Amino acid sequence: MSRELIKTVNGFISPLELGFCQCHEHVFIKGDIDDYALSLKELELYKGSGGCSLVDAGPQNLSANLEVLKRLSMESGVRIIASTGFHKLSYYRNTHDVFTKSKEDLAEMFVKETEAGAGVIKVCVCGELEGTYRKLHESAIHAAKVTGSPVMFHVDEDTCLPSVINFYMERGISPDRLIICHADRFVKSMEEHLTAAGLGAYLEYDTIARPKYHDDAKEVEIILYMLDKGFGHKILLGLDTTKDRLFSYGGNVGLDYILKTFIPLLLDMGVDNGKIYEMTVLNCRKALEFRMGESV
Ligand SMILES: [Zn+2]
Repeated sequence: MSRELIKTVNGFISPLELGFCQCHEHVFIKGDIDDYALSLKELELYKGSGGCSLVDAGPQNLSANLEVLKRLSMESGVRIIASTGFHKLSYYRNTHDVFTKSKEDLAEMFVKETEAGAGVIKVCVCGELEGTYRKLHESAIHAAKVTGSPVMFHVDEDTCLPSVINFYMERGISPDRLIICHADRFVKSMEEHLTAAGLGAYLEYDTIARPKYHDDAKEVEIILYMLDKGFGHKILLGLDTTKDRLFSYGGNVGLDYILKTFIPLLLDMGVDNGKIYEMTVLNCRKALEFRMGESV
């Protein structure tokens, strides 16, 4: 029998407690976004505008960040879902665990970090699923099966979404356990978005207020296209915040940007409140749930 729960840094909650959720943010990273008072201020801004929950999508150094994320969550009242897993290999020294540990040991590490407080396994797809990347993905798959955790993907321009989804499917992970991030930055093929959503994967669109990629009008166009094709139930939203953009750190995009600016734009462009609720609440409940006791 399966029971659906979502894992926050402060323990499991019912999906009904999740509320409005942005599914790919960065609120605290040791050595980068690491001023406790400013991160708290940013979360309070979010909470004050109607934000309830968010995913902190930084998988590096979870053990160093976890205690702070727990405190930030308690103090701000925002539920935080943290990540284990791995990011681009170019971010790591060649002596790092991702290179030196075996597939089995890495899987055990992801399981342990999930038990300690992570609520999602974040993985990175850069180019082919070969070599060290292949090892890491196989570790993530094993950990996802053991824990019931969802898996979140960083994808790049050259990522072929259907082949990534197939890699996981062939190893027993259902596509509806997968959250594909940033695909809206790479709109060369909307066909791939349709295929990924058609297979059941969630598409987390986070190129909002990111003019270096495209403007918000283009982002709305992508969302309208997917809604028109009947995939509103597969879209999640986020800002993929960085230190230089966070309002409290001196930037011009606060965590409240979606609530205060982007949703009004969607409404102006004819997206109804029901669809917005679906993308920011209902879909998040399903995408982020753990499926324990279920053989995947
Ligand atoms: Zn990110």
